[in-house]
Amino acid sequence: MASIKAAEKTKELSIYGQISGLGHEQLVICYDEPTGLKAIIGIHNTVLGPGLGGTRMWPYSNEQDAIKDVLRLSRGMTFKAAISGLNIGGGKAVLIGDPKLKTEAYLRRLGRFIQSLGGRYVTAEDVNMNTRDMELIAMETPYVTGLPEIKGGGGDPSPVTAYGTYLGMKAAAKKAYGNDSLEGKRVVVQGVGQVGSYLVGHLMKEKAQVFVTDIFEEKLFEVAKKTGAQVIAPDAVYGFNMDIYSPCALGATLNEETIPLLKCDIVAGGANNQLEDEESHGQMLLDRGIVYAPDFLINAGGLINVYIEFLGGYKKEVALDRTEGIYATCLEVLQTSSKEQRTPQEIAMEMAWSRIESIAKIKRSYGS
Ligand code: NAD
Repeated sequence: MASIKAAEKTKELSIYGQISGLGHEQLVICYDEPTGLKAIIGIHNTVLGPGLGGTRMWPYSNEQDAIKDVLRLSRGMTFKAAISGLNIGGGKAVLIGDPKLKTEAYLRRLGRFIQSLGGRYVTAEDVNMNTRDMELIAMETPYVTGLPEIKGGGGDPSPVTAYGTYLGMKAAAKKAYGNDSLEGKRVVVQGVGQVGSYLVGHLMKEKAQVFVTDIFEEKLFEVAKKTGAQVIAPDAVYGFNMDIYSPCALGATLNEETIPLLKCDIVAGGANNQLEDEESHGQMLLDRGIVYAPDFLINAGGLINVYIEFLGGYKKEVALDRTEGIYATCLEVLQTSSKEQRTPQEIAMEMAWSRIESIAKIKRSYGS
């Protein structure tokens, strides 16, 4: 299992070096002049099933950043799916460009590229993509999830992501405090977008003392007014006296500068790639005695939601029921971590990888 840091450092210049360094199977570069479509699809590992993961649209300033992003993100999906017990692999797509480029033709062209992969990659929403975009892609390929509920899809996955994150936070509380109640706990939710705002709802219901922050002020005050959470400034988060820090905005907020400032017992949030460096920053948290609930494990609710849709006959209750497994898995990871004095990130990744390896072995012969 290659570490991201090592792979990116040694193989910086070669595309094949980057793909093999992180263990990818395929990187597909798609271009369509009439619509301006520039898409890159990364398929990391398909031992458990087709690579399923969202399409992200972003005005990347250069192609290398887009490649790096799709490689990291698709790898992350492999681990997320495997640890959640899903029969899908890791895939992701990125679109290079201003989201204003999106037209019906642009998205349908993307759908045709996805179709050409014959089901090895299945898409869904990610940053700057929505359920309507998925409907347009679906005009050209069945390999798409995240369709609106009225069209038989699973709709917006964020509430399910937030539910899983909340359960992961409770499992971390059980580990840190001996019981999983969040009542009275001072929780800072950083980023009250789709996931953060639903998470605040769960926390308020459990009578936690919730503090919210966001760089988008209008949304911040709207959520605070609606839920009764207290507002703090975005730059006040790291030194804030809290029990639980919940990153729900961007990645890499756990790093060399922020970890020494943290005044909390637990980090548990919905954001992807919270650790700037999986190994050293995971270790810094462990050394400080802060319980870290691995992001890819506790934010898997959204993936579980699209997976249930992918299986057909979507039912929200089934997605929520499946998401409840996050609590037990998270507790198991945290208990193993403290027993073996290794980071929860490392334990969780090992658990995911060992499932992939064991399933790969049962597929060694044809017909039996
Ligand atoms: P979103 O864009 O709806 O919300 C993110 C919020 O964070 C925005 O309101 C933004 O203004 C705020 N923000 C950005 N920078 C900030 C900063 N420095 N300080 C405070 N706030 C800041 O996105 P989302 O769908 O809620 O996703 C949030 C995170 O969860 C992302 O990392 C995403 O990759 C991850 N995630 C989301 C899902 C899902 O189902 N939506 C699933 C898995 C993981």
